[in-house]
Amino acid sequence: MAGDLPLAPGPPEKGSPQPVAAARKGTQRMAYVISDACIDVKDQSCVQECPVDCIKTDEAANQYYIDPDICIDCGACQPVCPVNAIYPADELPPDQTHQIEINAEYFKKAK
Ligand code: SF4
Repeated sequence: MAGDLPLAPGPPEKGSPQPVAAARKGTQRMAYVISDACIDVKDQSCVQECPVDCIKTDEAANQYYIDPDICIDCGACQPVCPVNAIYPADELPPDQTHQIEINAEYFKKAK
């Protein structure tokens, strides 16, 4: 019957959904990154929006960070940030590219 779920998984479909940045770059998926504007703000609005719970911080940290291994590049966090701190990694302002490593390093230490 139409609408029933298949009993067994089939081969991967061509044209299956791809993250926005992957489509943009035509390469591997890219994460969003939280920039310096978050420092000492830590508003948390982004945390509420993230569907995969990959935006983290701790009491010792002065900003939030996005885990690049978990971020699905959905972009939901970006418009809710009151200080416009969040960018796709490939659209970070040149003076904020250091945050790609800073965001990733936070999770390397935590894992
Ligand atoms: Fe979470 Fe989506 Fe923002 Fe990535 S882009 S941190 S998955 S809300």
